[in-house]
Amino acid sequence: MTLSREDRLRELELLPAWRLREQAASPPAPVESAPAAEKIASQVTQMDWTELKQAVIACQACSLGQTRTQTVFGVGDEHADWLFIGEAPGAEEDRRGEPFVGAAGQLLDNMLAAIQLKRGENVYIANVLKCRPPQNRDPHGEEVVKCDPFLKRQAELIQPRLIVAMGRFAAQSVLNTDAAIGALRGKLHDYNGVPVIVTYHPAYLLRNLPDKAKAWEDLCFARATMRELQNQ
Ligand code: URA
Repeated sequence: MTLSREDRLRELELLPAWRLREQAASPPAPVESAPAAEKIASQVTQMDWTELKQAVIACQACSLGQTRTQTVFGVGDEHADWLFIGEAPGAEEDRRGEPFVGAAGQLLDNMLAAIQLKRGENVYIANVLKCRPPQNRDPHGEEVVKCDPFLKRQAELIQPRLIVAMGRFAAQSVLNTDAAIGALRGKLHDYNGVPVIVTYHPAYLLRNLPDKAKAWEDLCFARATMRELQNQ
């Protein structure tokens, strides 16, 4: 019998506490059967961009497939050095099919501009989840597990030099940890061989203006790290 990644993590007691809590609180409501979802997940590892986009559009692996308006795949340069990862589409993103197009997206564009970057130019933007959680609730652990193969494949196809995980949720999902964002900032982490830097989520920064200074520190750290990576 082949164990799923989640089963293996559970066996090794490596599943983050928040995932275990989520699982206890919300029993999974898969639309596709578990074997069908597992089969798709293993096929995803071989997909090219076109196949991957189609697979995301067709995905019904969790209940978000029934409530979304459309999937939000990701946007930008498919060979970018920079991969920015957020949490999940909000209402505006769900309507328009593009990540970070609401108020938080405006701030993200400003954050990019602060380090001489521009959406779509050597930058790719994606979310952990490709579908909007209803009422913008926190993503459930099961949804993250089902969506994870898509993000992993996006990162494999892009081959970015650096990933910037924005916000607690993206950081914890990408790094498979339940550590607090404060403990994760200012360090270089790893996602399948790609260096990762953690910063605050733009939506959080809109509500917590004093932390913009810390986000600026993170962006400077990211820019300096990228310069080193590009010179290697
Ligand atoms: N917040 C996110 O994490 N992603 C989006 O695409 C929009 C808002």
